[in-house]
Amino acid sequence: MSEFTPKGLVFCVSGPSGVGKGTIIAELRKITPSIIHSISVTTRQPRPGEMDGIHYYFRQPDEFQQMMAQGEILEHDSYCGNFYGTPRKPLIEATEQGRDVLMDVTVPGSLAVMENFPDAITLFLLPPSFTELRRRLTKRGTENPEVVEKRLQKAREEIEKARLFQYVVVNDDIQITARKILSIAEAERCRYERMAGVEKLIMSK
Ligand code: 5GP
Repeated sequence: MSEFTPKGLVFCVSGPSGVGKGTIIAELRKITPSIIHSISVTTRQPRPGEMDGIHYYFRQPDEFQQMMAQGEILEHDSYCGNFYGTPRKPLIEATEQGRDVLMDVTVPGSLAVMENFPDAITLFLLPPSFTELRRRLTKRGTENPEVVEKRLQKAREEIEKARLFQYVVVNDDIQITARKILSIAEAERCRYERMAGVEKLIMSK
């Protein structure tokens, strides 16, 4: 099987702010360090502890526009007054090398990915309840109450779009959620279209 290197999977993960996308992605990377997290570009201000080039590439709006104009952004969205986008090149290079990539994007970002990158696996993370989502967003304490309310309002709209995703996982427990996502990845890897031609290789040996 050594001559057969399938492309890496692209996981497009969406879900309301506070559902735990960042935590799940960190957990997945802890279990499987070869998974790459696509680092987005944003015009939002860094939160305490966030570092440029690790959590995001923090850029000015004009720099973001320039990247867009140069075709460097695969998909983008404006969310609560800031721009967010996925750099194209690192994602394509990683998958060509057979490495899996996780994208953490808004719902409209996922819809754009479904349209322009149909090979991507789309997954929606749901909170166990709306009450729990409010609790997690408030507990995080990184946003003021007005921003929390804005994000909760946005969450209602986003959750209505869960039905458009291929997979839905309720994030009640980090370890269980991570295990479910890794199981989805294993199943996706066995899809014939991702393995096409492997049977010929096996029969030639
Ligand atoms: P936050 O400000 O909490 O880091 O992110 C706000 C929202 O932007 C989250 O829902 C997150 O998934 C989304 N987001 C982060 N990076 C990207 C990106 O590159 N593209 C899109 N469309 N959304 C993103």
